[in-house]
Amino acid sequence: MRSTSRTEAFPAHTPAAAQIFTTVLSHGPLTRSEIAGRTRLSAAAVTKAVRPLIEAGYLVEDADDDARQPSLGRPANPVQVDGGRALFIGVKVTGDELIAVLTDLCCRIRVARHLPLTSRDPGAVLASITALVQELLTEADGFGVAVHGLGIAVSGDVDRAAGVVRYSPFLEWSDVPLAELASLATGLPVTVDNDVRALTVAEQWFGAGVGLSDFAVVTVGAGIGCGLVVHGHVVSGAHGVAGEIGHVAIDPAGPPCHCGNRGCVEAIAADSAIVGRIREVTGIEVADTAEAVDLAHAGNPGAREVYARAGDAIGRGIATVANLLGPERVIISGEGLAAYDLFAEQIREAFAAAAFGSAARCDLQTRPLPFEEWARGAAATAIQSFIRSDTY
Ligand SMILES: [Zn+2]
Repeated sequence: MRSTSRTEAFPAHTPAAAQIFTTVLSHGPLTRSEIAGRTRLSAAAVTKAVRPLIEAGYLVEDADDDARQPSLGRPANPVQVDGGRALFIGVKVTGDELIAVLTDLCCRIRVARHLPLTSRDPGAVLASITALVQELLTEADGFGVAVHGLGIAVSGDVDRAAGVVRYSPFLEWSDVPLAELASLATGLPVTVDNDVRALTVAEQWFGAGVGLSDFAVVTVGAGIGCGLVVHGHVVSGAHGVAGEIGHVAIDPAGPPCHCGNRGCVEAIAADSAIVGRIREVTGIEVADTAEAVDLAHAGNPGAREVYARAGDAIGRGIATVANLLGPERVIISGEGLAAYDLFAEQIREAFAAAAFGSAARCDLQTRPLPFEEWARGAAATAIQSFIRSDTY
């Protein structure tokens, strides 16, 4: 157990306080009346919620520009989050490495670290997470500010409320109580969430989703993931599973999927599906995604056709999201963007063909986001839990 574990609580745990704080985090500095306008809360409610946050140092009030009038906490002064007030750690777990970041309260990355995984066994991964967190806690000591929470992002079916990884195909985990285990090992409050949902929180607060009430993040790569924001809230679903476009069936006669069905988007467009299909079609033993991309870039027609089919599947999957939820924007990201030029046209064509009516007006935006951004998303979930007081 570390002495740096949280010894203080966020001073206000009302939904209004959390909403006000995240609004200032994304859009600040803001005056109280601007906060009231954005949150649709009353000016009185904003003033009441802001006061304890200023007193505890989480929000700071800008001094008056006018030197003749010293700041006396006038409500007209803009407030902003004091990033240096608290630190957080975010860890993204992939199949073969951990990416960890130490961030401040504004989720700005102060330190980033990578650690290769030698085993996917839950015990071994936990030991690696603990070692990496200890390293970052030592870094945090140098800033003289306590780490207030740890967020861990894992792909698959993750129950954030219970802190349990229900099923992660890439790690081959079932029912791992990761939040409890990591909390015991590090002494920190821990939040465990699906990795794409964590990335979606970061995009909502700081990225291409700022200011949008309805948008989706679709990630392509080892798997096909999707995070959804509806009416300003990241959707988790009643059972922790929502937006699984990777398992939307595109072709009932298509290739088998690891989920047990056939022709899912993931069975056609995930990295391993593409590599496997290129081997079948071309007879060339490409070792990995990099070689598959090289072969397609060299003009091999079979390889190009496999990428085109993958793009078609992804475009149809995105159209399904657009038809169901009508998001203003879909942000396409993930390590699979390295091959984007090979299937961008097919994604857009299939999307346009399958999106119904005005749903096709949805803006498709590609954003290459490195794994540090996913880890930052994990830190954002820890900040979210801290201000809502729902960490494990
Ligand atoms: Zn499937």
